[in-house]
Amino acid sequence: MNNRILGLHHITAIAGDAQKNYDFYSKVLGLRLVKKTVNFDDPGTYHFYYGDTIGTPGSILTFFPWEGIQKGRIGTGMATEIGYSVPAGSLDFWVKRLDALNIRHTPISERFGEQYIQLEDTDGLILNLVASAKADERKPWVTNDIKEEVAIKGFHSVTLMLKDSKATAKVLTDIFGYQQTAQEGNMLRFATDAIDTANIVDIIEAPNGQHGINAGGTNHHVAFRVKDDTVLMDFRKKVVAAGLHITEKIDRNYFYSLYFREPGGVLFELASENPGFVTDETLEELGTHLMLPAQYEAMRKRIEEVLPELKQN
Ligand code: ZN
Repeated sequence: MNNRILGLHHITAIAGDAQKNYDFYSKVLGLRLVKKTVNFDDPGTYHFYYGDTIGTPGSILTFFPWEGIQKGRIGTGMATEIGYSVPAGSLDFWVKRLDALNIRHTPISERFGEQYIQLEDTDGLILNLVASAKADERKPWVTNDIKEEVAIKGFHSVTLMLKDSKATAKVLTDIFGYQQTAQEGNMLRFATDAIDTANIVDIIEAPNGQHGINAGGTNHHVAFRVKDDTVLMDFRKKVVAAGLHITEKIDRNYFYSLYFREPGGVLFELASENPGFVTDETLEELGTHLMLPAQYEAMRKRIEEVLPELKQN
């Protein structure tokens, strides 16, 4: 199993206001901010990582908050929905909680035999809370308001919207080891048996859909999980052999990465489990300090001045 794609590693999206983003994900949804750092390609911008207690791959949603960014358009060629796994029987809790906080959501609906509600974050990013059909043994981060029996456990799935699914499906099946497991209308479900959680990719086929525009409230890329950077480089060969252009290995401090654009237009990343988020902070202190990669440490004072203040309590 160790040489396979192990479902999702993280999903990265674009937000507007950093404080609103923090308040929504940490307070409303009860995720843990496991790392507060900067965009390594643009150190004047935060990069937030939300996840479970230790930031387990498959639980990590990351954001670049750009103050004042215009709203993007959710459309084809991008990931359009993020599915979070919540315990069976917890959707009534979430409905009540979102109602009390004045956050709009759909009624409890059903897709592929699983109940879910759909909501938007403060920038319009679409999230589904899915009461997974099979037991999800992952241990969630808990808060005063959100106890273990209702807390978000990590990703359930990601949804891609594509004009044509064929070439993307081929990447999922032939390179990543996924199989199509179901279809409902124009929605195809793919899953891998290499891991039990965060192992689903849904594709919505929208031949006449408008192209997505990547800005506020849209997903930037979807990262798939591999055991380590050796397996990562094995997959690099497979992607190259399929005739796709892929980056060299990039050190993201908390994982190693490769990026390639799949034929349907979605930016895919492959990311390693190693070294993880406890490399530069203790487990207790995760997310409480502004962590900078070595190349920016000398600029810390200036970077701290430029970044908007973030109240974490
Ligand atoms: Zn990424």
